[in-house]
Amino acid sequence: MNYLALANAGVEKLHPYQPGKPVEELERELGISNSIKLASNENPLGLGAKARAAIERALPELARYPDANGFALKSALAEKLAVNTDQLILGNGSNELIDLVYHTFVSAGQQVVYSQYTFIVYALATQGHGAEAVVVPAKDLGHDLDAMAAAITERTKLVCITNPNNPTGTFLTKAQLSAFLANVPSQVLVILDEAYTEYVAEDERHPSIDWLAQYPNLIVSRTFSKAYGLAGLRVGYMVAHPELISVLNRVREPFNCNSLALAAAEAALGDTEYLNEAVGLNQREMARYEAFFESQGISYVKSRANFITLDLKRDATPVYDALLREGVIVRPIAGYGLPTCLRISIGLEQENQRCIEALAKVLSQGV
Ligand SMILES: *Cc1c(COP(=O)(O)O)cnc(C)c1O
Repeated sequence: MNYLALANAGVEKLHPYQPGKPVEELERELGISNSIKLASNENPLGLGAKARAAIERALPELARYPDANGFALKSALAEKLAVNTDQLILGNGSNELIDLVYHTFVSAGQQVVYSQYTFIVYALATQGHGAEAVVVPAKDLGHDLDAMAAAITERTKLVCITNPNNPTGTFLTKAQLSAFLANVPSQVLVILDEAYTEYVAEDERHPSIDWLAQYPNLIVSRTFSKAYGLAGLRVGYMVAHPELISVLNRVREPFNCNSLALAAAEAALGDTEYLNEAVGLNQREMARYEAFFESQGISYVKSRANFITLDLKRDATPVYDALLREGVIVRPIAGYGLPTCLRISIGLEQENQRCIEALAKVLSQGV
């Protein structure tokens, strides 16, 4: 039986998402222990104390369905962001919400505009929905907003922008973004994916929530997976015009966020101490990598996120493999069209130190 032939249009050309290599898999394959993973942009601090306590408090209620409307988390978010709860939708990770936007608004034959070298989920969702991908060549490994605006046609339904960008870490300023939004026709939706926004210095961060009043086609996407340290629980949110949110709610599965995720995210949102520690650690440790790369003459992309991408200017696979043998898992990004680059998630001080030493060793051996 040819199941692929039975599948919906668009599925045949899809390939499963390639996650970072799990530590357990590496250790099983190489028979080593004490390896570290700096490959999936997770928060190296682990679960925060407040989130953990909230999860413990929520355990006795697990036999019951979660709150389908996520009232408590939405209320906390609404207060923090100074928006109304009807401007918010919660998802099983922001990835689910991105998919929900496609499911609700993007149909076969329509165009989706996104940048070369951006989050692969946009390519997967575009393909999976049978839409036409309009991939705009990157400028200095980041979004070329002028070219993206110029790529919009009458068939364009959606534009996706990631800022800071993953996997390169590049950053668009408020001025660049607001000029772009002013150029997008109002019937074209824009997802502004801000998965790493908490890592950006406050004076540089773009005021995307304020822009919502001016641009009813704007959808701001955020997540608890990165700076809030809850990647394993899967919770993200979008902020947009209330009527747009209400259309998404028609399609959303009723219990898409589980009780533990809802409780933990609400607690994490109030845990400023944890967030500040995460952001401070990231800043200090980013500087460690930058100093190392500079001392070695290794080129890298200046990053505003919680990872840094280096360019070896040759096939990066041998270096990736040699690092694995040193027990250090980083992320090859050939699948993004960057075969000479590796992306390293910023870890704890000793993890970064170990990664740097392993990289120095491997490079000095002429790998
Ligand atoms: C990590 C990441 C997300 C978050 O995905 P979740 O589904 O919320 O875990 C979203 N967008 C980008 C660009 C990311 O890198």
